[in-house]
Amino acid sequence: MAVTPQLEPGGEPLPFAAPAQRDPALEEFLAEASTLLTRWLATAEQRPPLPALSVMPAVEPEAWGLSSERLLGDLQLVMEGAFNANHPGAIAHLDPPPLAASVVAELICAGMNNNLLAEELSPSLSRLERSLCAWLARQLGLGETSGGVLASGGSLSNLTALVTARHRRGLAQNPRAVVLASADAHVSLNKAIAVMGLPPEALVTVPVDACGRLDPTLAADRLRDLETAGRPVLALVATAGTTVRGAVDPLSDLAALCRPAGVWLHVDGAIGAVCGLSPRHRHRVEGLGLADSITINPQKLLGITKTSSALLLREPETLPAAFGTGLPYMEPSWGEAHGGECGLQGTRSGEILKLWLGLRQLGLGGIEAVIDGAIERRRCLQGLLNPLALDLVSGPMHLLAFAPTGADPDQAERWARHTRQRLLERHLMLSRPLYGGRHHLKAVLGNPHTREEHLGAVADVVNASLVDGALGP
Ligand SMILES: *Cc1c(COP(=O)(O)O)cnc(C)c1O
Repeated sequence: MAVTPQLEPGGEPLPFAAPAQRDPALEEFLAEASTLLTRWLATAEQRPPLPALSVMPAVEPEAWGLSSERLLGDLQLVMEGAFNANHPGAIAHLDPPPLAASVVAELICAGMNNNLLAEELSPSLSRLERSLCAWLARQLGLGETSGGVLASGGSLSNLTALVTARHRRGLAQNPRAVVLASADAHVSLNKAIAVMGLPPEALVTVPVDACGRLDPTLAADRLRDLETAGRPVLALVATAGTTVRGAVDPLSDLAALCRPAGVWLHVDGAIGAVCGLSPRHRHRVEGLGLADSITINPQKLLGITKTSSALLLREPETLPAAFGTGLPYMEPSWGEAHGGECGLQGTRSGEILKLWLGLRQLGLGGIEAVIDGAIERRRCLQGLLNPLALDLVSGPMHLLAFAPTGADPDQAERWARHTRQRLLERHLMLSRPLYGGRHHLKAVLGNPHTREEHLGAVADVVNASLVDGALGP
């Protein structure tokens, strides 16, 4: 009887990497895949940012497994239909090109196939995650005993924060608890509220000022009203970098409001918290370190491959307090708690590896340079657009949105749709968010490949769209 299972009678062994000698088939497969990928990245400018509908490969497995050559051919088809983040005109969303070391680390991570659920399944990676999260939290000002945990995306980091805050405040069983945030806060808070079993009204929103920032006077009023109404506030969520315009709420003022009231301050810094890593840009998120918890998404501006998000906390021991279940089928943790007891996810890949390697590849100078470049490009585009014919909305980050001055919602919708199409024809991709009841065009300038000529081309198309009568009746 054969001990090693075979793919077909008398054929090749099953395609798992050989454990006792080099595996030439795997080496060749990896080398060819690497060539395929680097070629795809290197030809980004020859394809549009947003590809036309492409041919898709067969989806179902065939009776017998395919050769690596066939697999690579199928992969190529999927890549041809993929969003092309490496194109310099890809400035629509918070999805920059991938940072080189994070691509490499992602591959190594897959090969190690460790599991952050428990330390015995990820001994070095669990320690790496704990120490890098602690470093990040200290850098952002959360204090010497701070720390955190990675999660698959900012939505999950925000949910983890709110569940932790609710537990810490002793409100886990209280159906009257609410969350306070600005009207421009991210939609992931609505999802979090739903998952937490609270009604939609449990997300109480406060209007923003003319700069898109949560107004602390109105927030103070709301806190007082809620107290009078006997509605306990489980957290106030401030945003450091709102999704449409990159506004940063007045974090110090809000912290001053939360502290005496015993309200947990969570900062959704999915976009802006990276500024806290750079002395030159820290002022953009002034007061960040006064938070109880912070969401940071290195997958956005820093280009760490997706997903890369962390929840950082002043008191990281509140995580296992909220999520600890004991893992009776695992050896005890030799740190404070297993990864699987510090959040919602059980099995989780070692995403820390690509964040760690990416930050080491950039260095502090590189992190600063990435932010410098993004802010500079936003300023440049802002300077090129016609300020008399456009309402420009922005903030201290690298996001800029705009709509024609005086356009009503219908006109703005038509203008945004047509202008986005004109831009796409020139391989320039902007997004079309609805903001303040009107469609805007939005540029996110985190793509390091975007040059002045691309911004000039964007401005030409946009400014030309505004000449008299172009908005139509
Ligand atoms: C992107 C974003 C999120 C959500 O992050 P995901 O990784 O997409 O889940 C949350 N908050 C803000 C402000 C964001 O911009």
